[in-house]
Amino acid sequence: MPAIKKKKTAKKAATKAASTFAIDTSVELFKARIEENLIHSLARDTTTATPRDWWLATCHALNDRILERYIATQGVHNDNNVRRVYYLSLEYLMGRLMENNLVNCGMFEIAEQALSELGMDLRDIGDAEVDMGLGNGGLGRLAACFLDSLATLDYPAIGYGIHYEFGLFRQEFINGRQMERPDNWLASGNPWHIIRPEYQVRVPIYGHVEYKNDDKGDWHPAWVGAKEIIGVPWDIPIVGYGAKTVNFLRLWESRASTEFDLEAFNRGGYTEAVREKAISETISKVLYPNDATESGKELRLVQQYFFVTCSLHDIIRRYKKSNKGWGDFPEKVAMQLNDTHPAIAVAELMRILCDEEKLDWDDAWTTCRKVFSYTNHTLLPEALEKWSVPLFEKVLPRHLQIIYEINRRFLEDEVEAKWPGDGKKKMELSIIEEGTPKMIRMAYLAVVGSHTVNGVAALHTELLKAHLFNTFDNLYPGKIQNKTNGITPRRFLKACNPELSALIDKTVGDDWPTDLDKLKGLTKVAGDAKFQKEFMKIKRDNKVVLAEIIEKDCGIKVSPDALFDVQIKRLHEYKRQHLNLLHILTRYREILQNPNGDFVPRVVIFGAKAAPGYVLAKEIIFAINKVAEKINNDERVGDKLKVVFLPNYRVSLAERIVPAADLSEQISTAGKEASGTGNMKLALNGALTIGTLDGANVEIGEEVGDDNIFIFGLTVGEVDQLRASGYNSYNYYNSNENLKAVLDWLSSDYFTPGNPNALSATRKSLLDGGDPFLVCADYQAYCDAQKKVDDAFRDTAKWAEMAIMNTACVGKFSSDRTIHEYAKEIWDLEAVTE
Ligand SMILES: *Cc1c(COP(=O)(O)O)cnc(C)c1O
Repeated sequence: MPAIKKKKTAKKAATKAASTFAIDTSVELFKARIEENLIHSLARDTTTATPRDWWLATCHALNDRILERYIATQGVHNDNNVRRVYYLSLEYLMGRLMENNLVNCGMFEIAEQALSELGMDLRDIGDAEVDMGLGNGGLGRLAACFLDSLATLDYPAIGYGIHYEFGLFRQEFINGRQMERPDNWLASGNPWHIIRPEYQVRVPIYGHVEYKNDDKGDWHPAWVGAKEIIGVPWDIPIVGYGAKTVNFLRLWESRASTEFDLEAFNRGGYTEAVREKAISETISKVLYPNDATESGKELRLVQQYFFVTCSLHDIIRRYKKSNKGWGDFPEKVAMQLNDTHPAIAVAELMRILCDEEKLDWDDAWTTCRKVFSYTNHTLLPEALEKWSVPLFEKVLPRHLQIIYEINRRFLEDEVEAKWPGDGKKKMELSIIEEGTPKMIRMAYLAVVGSHTVNGVAALHTELLKAHLFNTFDNLYPGKIQNKTNGITPRRFLKACNPELSALIDKTVGDDWPTDLDKLKGLTKVAGDAKFQKEFMKIKRDNKVVLAEIIEKDCGIKVSPDALFDVQIKRLHEYKRQHLNLLHILTRYREILQNPNGDFVPRVVIFGAKAAPGYVLAKEIIFAINKVAEKINNDERVGDKLKVVFLPNYRVSLAERIVPAADLSEQISTAGKEASGTGNMKLALNGALTIGTLDGANVEIGEEVGDDNIFIFGLTVGEVDQLRASGYNSYNYYNSNENLKAVLDWLSSDYFTPGNPNALSATRKSLLDGGDPFLVCADYQAYCDAQKKVDDAFRDTAKWAEMAIMNTACVGKFSSDRTIHEYAKEIWDLEAVTE
């Protein structure tokens, strides 16, 4: 990427900051900074400090350096009026920031040494940090990985989202059932976010549209009677690896406006004013906990509109500081819509340009289409956002009109030109779905309003083009592109697996964190007995650490010599944790019926939250917990099989599980998992995948080779065929003795003594419920594949070679590769280095 020329002043400032930065990277100085912060920021000395105090003091000590780089980077970006990408996402699943910021600043060892000299352990202190869990799962974690890569690759980028007071709920198990607890992530303070009251934004909402005469005698729609909410930004610096570029994430908090308060006060007195204030402040109160389903709730629509409007105003304010007129707007601004959650931005930008800035419609529309691009994350129908027209009319009356006008022109001009007189095509492509009530298809609004649409894995993009967006693909050839997801190797290898990282440094050099294809060098030593020993010794050490966590959190003792079989992801029928459960039951029966059999000892490890309203998902958690309880306490089984459900799966827990995994369960029904990124984290850390040909599993298979992955089950084509021919899960149940036995076992009282049918919800969904995700159809193939896993694990040298080949061959899945592709093929964005 060619670097843009800088003005002198900015360069000077940057150089100065960089040198300050370098000077301070000594153990002595860092130690002094920590002690200073303990006293001056936290009113503690080294004898009274709690782990939280040490954590905060370390963060503050690091922050001083980060903020200098932040100011330098932003100075260069502003002075040079650079083109930026704005990433709009309702979710950011950031996890903890201290360790990652230390690693990216190159100060991890320094901090470790400094703290050790102060008598503290960096890892223990790190545990005081509560995860920043402002996301549900893969979509939010992708946004977080993208921010890391954008900063690392020196792309000018700002993330926009919501400063939720409560992130994704904490999960506890009580008698095997999921209980949700509020995630009060800000309770013990947050050293990373900086409030920016000077950039607050006023957001109008509700009201109605009237037509008013302007000074030239024309009638114009005017949005009147709207209420007003205030958006206040909090900024979180995003440190690139090497700490050259520090971008930021700007999160909006909602507050009541003073006018709003007074008006309400005059109308209804004090209590009414307080009530309305509370309503305004509710907007950023809590993250909706649904993953891959839409709730259709008014507050959710308000959240989306609120953060999009704040962000657009902020982007426009920044643009106007350095530019005149609107002609250069598309030169300076690229906006990525992370799923349809921010798609209202298309209508809001049209409203600002037409109603406030008085551009004519065509110019405004051309501008819009040059700045927006949209990422689709799912084909699941229940996840496709649709908002009812009456709700929209109530909350955003002017935006509804604008969407109707966008739709009218789209159908009358574009669709008519391509398919003249074809009413069916117009119905099919309309942004408005007919029905009672009418619904707004947000995905269609996003497609029509963007210059580029992308899927998140090759298979997913092909399916998008073949199904959901097939007609759009005919209308706009080339608009739909693939951008296979990725993960940041800084967090998900270097920071979370330091021993393996050191071994890799020693073997292929230490530049792999920013050039992950360098891992290919490991293929040369994959067959080397000495290297295999070292590699597997590290895996075992990581398993010992995880075993300690399992004992502490679940009270279960597991052997680090067993095969660690891991399924960590949101609980969803399409991800088929219940298929995994059926295999566990099958294995348990085999052990009971064959007490002297030669079994490969296994620990099956789950981590998964279920959406609080997703009844069957919660029943599956309960069933796994009850089955686990029985198996773990059955003396006939011993170490041959243990089942562990770690509570409260989150990023920081993923960072402990991933380095310790032998086997990665990626067993979704083919065609349902858009990409997956957990699959990439696990493969990178030397876990073998057992998986279906779904999402990015396909591409992982291509990279590691058929011999180094366990692929099983129906393909997308076979799934379609089976459905077309009339799928009946009873056919599988009646013809497969083992399947029948384990399903019937679930509705006995074997696992819940005295209480038969306590676990029968899963069985019911798979039989009378029609088995919508074809668990029964894939059951035998899955059990067969698990046998192959056992055989492979018995041959320790062979297994080691396969594990090393996985680490060696998944360089493609660095989010750096993904971000370079977005920059080149969607955003037309250049890196800016100092
Ligand atoms: C990576 C990650 C996910 C996504 O996992 P998938 O297996 O791709 O669904 C979800 N949650 C957390 C905490 C993660 O780190």
